[in-house]
Amino acid sequence: MTMTPCPNCRHINDGIAFKCAKCERPLFTEDRVTTPTVSAPKPPSASSWLPPAAPAAALTRVSVVDFNMPFASMVGLMIKWTLATIPALFILAAAGFVGFTALTLLTASLIGLAK
Ligand SMILES: [Zn+2]
Repeated sequence: MTMTPCPNCRHINDGIAFKCAKCERPLFTEDRVTTPTVSAPKPPSASSWLPPAAPAAALTRVSVVDFNMPFASMVGLMIKWTLATIPALFILAAAGFVGFTALTLLTASLIGLAK
């Protein structure tokens, strides 16, 4: 596990910590979230057909620093999501009705109830 020192009080925090456990200062500031800079490509050489080795650790690390959303906005978003499911409910109900009817008619014809 990586350890992240606090830039304010030098307290050593877990690598997954959002903010310092001692002084509550956010550990990841804006400049640490930005896309890592990649050095300029080298001039072509004998092995130029190989893709350049990417800095894997810099490209794979994703840090969600802060989810700054007021509570009322989050409640509003959830209500909108709920309302957005209503048309999907109608579509699924119609598809279910068609499928159930087709299966019922098929079963009835197979056992000889429908003449
Ligand atoms: Zn601190």
